[in-house]
Amino acid sequence: MLPDNYRGMLALLRYDDGTEKCVGCDLCEAACPSRVIAVVSAEVPGEPTKRYAREYTMDMTRCLFCGLCVQACPVDALAMTREYEWAVYDKRNLLLNKEQLLAIGDRTFQARDKRLEYQHLNLAFFNVAASNHPPKVASL
Ligand code: SF4
Ligand code: SF4
Repeated sequence: MLPDNYRGMLALLRYDDGTEKCVGCDLCEAACPSRVIAVVSAEVPGEPTKRYAREYTMDMTRCLFCGLCVQACPVDALAMTREYEWAVYDKRNLLLNKEQLLAIGDRTFQARDKRLEYQHLNLAFFNVAASNHPPKVASL
């Protein structure tokens, strides 16, 4: 039986509408002491103030399972699962891309968070990229 705080394989997460949580900020890459993570971020098409991870790779042959990347992520896009059976014959199979990491998240965390603007209702007032951004009130 695994302990509740077991640190297994890493995963990328989505919101309940399927949107990837990751905003491509690179903080996990900066926090990782073992240079496991490589993020290539880009603008969300048509929404120049929003970014996403165009590419996200993890070289799990180097991971220490320290959890610093999970703690560094500002939007809880990363999580550690309880998966441990990852023995392979070819260690190139442990170089995981974004789709593989999202698939691990999908099968492990079926209960997903709502998007941030539905969790924090006044967030839309500060996010200029929100589609339902309220009009500015004219100053007196
Ligand atoms: S768990 Fe630690 S070593 Fe592994 S990717 Fe995250 S920060 Fe890097
Ligand atoms: S997983 Fe989190 S910390 Fe890493 S790039 Fe994405 S949003 Fe930033």
